[in-house]
Amino acid sequence: MTANILVVEDEPAIQELLAFNVTQCGYRALQASDADSALALINRALPDLILLDWMLPGMSGVELARRLRADQRTHNIPIIMLTARTDERDKVLGLESGADDYITKPFSPRELMARIRAVLRRRAPQMSDELVRVEGLELSPVTHRVNASGQNIDLGPTEFRLLHFFMTHVERVYSRSQLLDQVWGDHVFVEERTVDVHIRRLRQALEPSGLDSLVQTVRGSGYRFSRN
Ligand code: CA
Repeated sequence: MTANILVVEDEPAIQELLAFNVTQCGYRALQASDADSALALINRALPDLILLDWMLPGMSGVELARRLRADQRTHNIPIIMLTARTDERDKVLGLESGADDYITKPFSPRELMARIRAVLRRRAPQMSDELVRVEGLELSPVTHRVNASGQNIDLGPTEFRLLHFFMTHVERVYSRSQLLDQVWGDHVFVEERTVDVHIRRLRQALEPSGLDSLVQTVRGSGYRFSRN
């Protein structure tokens, strides 16, 4: 699953450099020059990570990070703060505003990528390439294969993403709208019943192995992937 990384930076040259590095590493880059256009993009679809410049015209990066953390829909988006400041106090303020990590300009592309990977691994495990195992299920993001007790299971791309998300977020209840945000990256233009359609297909695919019971309906709330 390709992670969408939103670059929020007002300096065109740095914005381009960041987008270039992000794309080189196989991620998809979205670009915004200020907080308002960043919020417009986030409103359309949740990015998987935000590279956020501290000093922006209008609303600052710190302020934007605070707003995203205060909103239930966006409070989990990983944020890496970019800044020219090296002051320890500023670093603390940046992290207190809700950033997951912090990079001081000028940065090396290698450092940037290492930090992006580390934050994604920690905060968005469904974006990682690591093999996931839950119960008798084994999912490999690299080969796009799913095994149930040794038997290969054929899944469409959406069911694969859905299962990957579930397997990396077990025992938690997600509403249809949250699943649209997390798995489709879009909670506005895709209808909620789309989720039900793909849940049904996923269950059908898991049925022969008897593992379809892992995908549970939580009445009035949504869905949960659970061992119990
Ligand atoms: Ca700036």
